[in-house]
Amino acid sequence: MPCLFFFSYICAMKLVDTHTHLYLEEFKDDRREVVEAAINANVETMLLPNIDSGTVDDMNSLATAFPENCFPMMGLHPTSVKDEYEKDLAMVEHLLNKGAYIAVGEIGIDLYWDKTYREQQIDAFRIQLKLAKKHKLPVSIHTRNSFEEIYPIVKEELNDDLKGVFHCFLGSEEEAKKIMDLGFLMGVGGVITFKKATIGDVVKNIPNNYLVFETDAPFLTPVPFRGKRNQSAYIKYIAEKTAIIKGVTFEEIATVTTENAKKLFNIKGN
Ligand SMILES: [Zn+2]
Repeated sequence: MPCLFFFSYICAMKLVDTHTHLYLEEFKDDRREVVEAAINANVETMLLPNIDSGTVDDMNSLATAFPENCFPMMGLHPTSVKDEYEKDLAMVEHLLNKGAYIAVGEIGIDLYWDKTYREQQIDAFRIQLKLAKKHKLPVSIHTRNSFEEIYPIVKEELNDDLKGVFHCFLGSEEEAKKIMDLGFLMGVGGVITFKKATIGDVVKNIPNNYLVFETDAPFLTPVPFRGKRNQSAYIKYIAEKTAIIKGVTFEEIATVTTENAKKLFNIKGN
């Protein structure tokens, strides 16, 4: 049955980009080509995390243009949490009530550049976790210099309806263990391909069923395109490097992470 074998081989190679901002300005001139390049590279499913009220329209337009491939999330990004964050959260809630979103994201806490809105970020994060539980949607969590703040909040809010992924995971082995104890997954991105990155040592010991892949395009471009604009077609470089680090085949890591992503985000088809 060579045809069937060929068919299942191709299916097994499919990859999911669980975190990509292809609706941003960086892609305004070639957005369609970038999505088509991803589909041609077997990245047929792309999940779009929102940033704030200024990105909703472009994100939704992209999802409407590629309804089989691009799935939007709804949320307020921690670096967009300012004085008026309650107004933004009202918009998030209003749009979640309309449905059509695959997850609540991206949400979280970012204390890397600026701690001015630390308390507001914590409040916005907790409120959005509650919204995710209410709508029974997974969450995409942005953690930057903030694991100590994020972990206890997720733990407190944890129930059977709360699940999700720590996107762009760059934490320690101990943090990975805590995330697994929560039943959450970790997103592996382009940083794993960087020469001096130590995240590979941590990812090596994380069981495959806790991992998903992401580009975070246009940011964090993997080698060999580091320094250029990132795009979803580049997931394969992240998958290749992860397979090497873990001593498994590309097919194996692709199959497991795609299954993980489909299960977490309840993606049907393909
Ligand atoms: Zn992001």
